[in-house]
Amino acid sequence: MSEIDFEEEKKEVLKAYTAMLRAAKHAKKDAVTKKRIRKAFDVALEAHKTDRRKSGEPYIFHPIAVARICAEEIGLGATSIICALLHDTVEDTEITIEDIARDFGNKEALIIDGLTKISGVVDNNVSLQAENFKKILLTLSEDVRVILIKIADRLHNMRTIGSMRRDKQLKIASETLFLYAPLAHRLGLHSIKSELEDLSLKCQEPDGFAEIKSKLTKTQEVRTRFIRKFSSPIKQVLEEKGLKFEIKGRPKSIHSIWNKMSSKNVSFEEVYDLFAIRIIIDSNEESLEKSDCWQVYSVVTDFYQPNIERLRDWISAPKANGYESLHTTVMSPTGKWVEVQIRTRRMDDIAEKGFAAHWKYKEGGSESQFDIWISQVRELIESTDNNALELLDDFKLNLFTDEIYVFTPNGDMKSLPAGATTLDFAFSVHTQVGTNCLGAKVNNKLVPLSHQLKSGDQVEILTSKNQKPKEDWLSFVQTHKAKSNIKSALKDEKRKVAQKGKSILEKELKRIKISHENVNLQELQTYYKVPSELELFYQISLDKIDLSKLKEFEVRKGVLKPKRTIQKRVQRYFGQRKTVTSKPKKPILVIGDNMEKLDYTLANCCNPIPGDEVYGFITVTEGIKIHKTSCPNTVQLMSKYAYRIIKSSWIEEQEVAFLTGLKIIGIDDMGIVNNITQIISNELNVNMRSLSFDSNDGVFEGRVMVMVQDTSHLTNLIKKLNKVKGVRKIERVDS
Ligand code: MN
Repeated sequence: MSEIDFEEEKKEVLKAYTAMLRAAKHAKKDAVTKKRIRKAFDVALEAHKTDRRKSGEPYIFHPIAVARICAEEIGLGATSIICALLHDTVEDTEITIEDIARDFGNKEALIIDGLTKISGVVDNNVSLQAENFKKILLTLSEDVRVILIKIADRLHNMRTIGSMRRDKQLKIASETLFLYAPLAHRLGLHSIKSELEDLSLKCQEPDGFAEIKSKLTKTQEVRTRFIRKFSSPIKQVLEEKGLKFEIKGRPKSIHSIWNKMSSKNVSFEEVYDLFAIRIIIDSNEESLEKSDCWQVYSVVTDFYQPNIERLRDWISAPKANGYESLHTTVMSPTGKWVEVQIRTRRMDDIAEKGFAAHWKYKEGGSESQFDIWISQVRELIESTDNNALELLDDFKLNLFTDEIYVFTPNGDMKSLPAGATTLDFAFSVHTQVGTNCLGAKVNNKLVPLSHQLKSGDQVEILTSKNQKPKEDWLSFVQTHKAKSNIKSALKDEKRKVAQKGKSILEKELKRIKISHENVNLQELQTYYKVPSELELFYQISLDKIDLSKLKEFEVRKGVLKPKRTIQKRVQRYFGQRKTVTSKPKKPILVIGDNMEKLDYTLANCCNPIPGDEVYGFITVTEGIKIHKTSCPNTVQLMSKYAYRIIKSSWIEEQEVAFLTGLKIIGIDDMGIVNNITQIISNELNVNMRSLSFDSNDGVFEGRVMVMVQDTSHLTNLIKKLNKVKGVRKIERVDS
């Protein structure tokens, strides 16, 4: 390691700090504020003076960078900058919340306290569990700056993730996709959301990411030419009208291209040219914005035919996260549909930076859509007795959906997620209206409860006192509010039934002479694989649980335990270091921090083979399962059960074969099947497990399952097969 030049380092730190101040010029209006920011910097600098980041640089660079993101990319003010500078002090150094309150004020102390608590929840804990998510949402309502600063913190950590350990990188990337990107989206931080997604993808799929990136660069020229040609007639007319504007192309993010490619199974070439054209107008005053936008719309559609069904007016009815814009899709000269987004500079700022930018435009505007959203979230969290996991699922559902706007008989507008039904509408009016809902009239026509609403519908709900929520209602309602209300009504019903199950269990325990005071219900839940006590009693009452299995339990040290506990089995996998009796060139997968050779099985959702990047997942009954990091289940497993993830990697090549699948697409040609099978079995001596070919209109699609040794063996096979006459495309398939 080379000598550290402390003087040089000090200069670099000061440089970073002044650059941050420059980016925050909107926030340091007066001398007092300036002084307070400087004080926060001095306190943080002193507190972190001995700390270094994983990369080796002084720790203080991190809080400075977070403060800069807050100021520059989110548009936050002085309070947030001060808190960002101090955000890690209470958690990592001697400084206390009381110190912050004394030196900076109560508001600052409250925010930093919130930040410390959240990071206690999401960073230190090995896993991001739903309960924690609930806590995070609750802090949202205390002061939203806590979440905004936390997002800035995460963004900087993602930007500098390279110096972390690989398994940590993967965990952080999963969490980012699972929680932070959706949160950023909901808060309207569009650029940050895209960057978080791209950085996560880069971490999880480095090759795929690099490939798309380089292809995007290579095709940039084609897009630029298209935009120039498309916009030139529009430009001319708008200039004649004396409007100030800017026209630019918005290519899709790498993450969204990747998603499209993998979900629709299409090639880059089929999606790369999907992009929107954005026209940003510098309106002279806010009152002219709407008419300016429609004027531009009129010019655009003078030249290009619009698709009427794809017109979106988010200026008259902004989205709940504050998004305002006019979208239309028009037919371009090349015969392709192109989305055109029309908005003013102010709208664009809000769309890219979110609500903080909104506050910049509307000083002291308290009745913002955002406040409404926050209060809705709070209401949901507090009203529900659902378990947190359900809450999370429902909430995520609502995070991603677009909105529709419908009307009450009096003409009041309500916004609901797209896909919402009449029953969702009923619950949005009032819980009682939902509970007693019989049906509805939509635009004066009678419709059932499950009828999906469209924007502009006028809805009148019909109720009856005798109506009660039904189980199947859950299958079609969309909103969290409806779901949680139905669930809690059903749960009340269930509780009654469960009461019976409880006494059945007590009787049975008495019969096999286990005193029910000794019974650990948690153990029984785990054993019978039911999520809650209530469910346990309920299923017993319905006779769905085999109580004869109780014989497999015993009372040990005063508690009920299965005779062979699950924990014991898992422990065995960890505890024992197996001696290797195998021949030198056997498959070697090492597991855990100590790189031990433990028993494992390969997950059949993604069929990993040596050479793949993998990790281990400790299952409850089947020991350690090995998944590819690119397995579709990875994000879910890592974010929900991070504590069960165990680092694994292949360390040596070997001669044992692994099963993998290939999909071959080509032009049907006499003898092609024969040629393919010859190559597989004769030339390369690969063992073929199964083979199926389909031919349709001269195009054939084949699926072959083969036994290969590792990825390089597989690559070689694919290369050879690609040379067969008629073969157009070969893909690896995992199941
Ligand atoms: Mn931090």
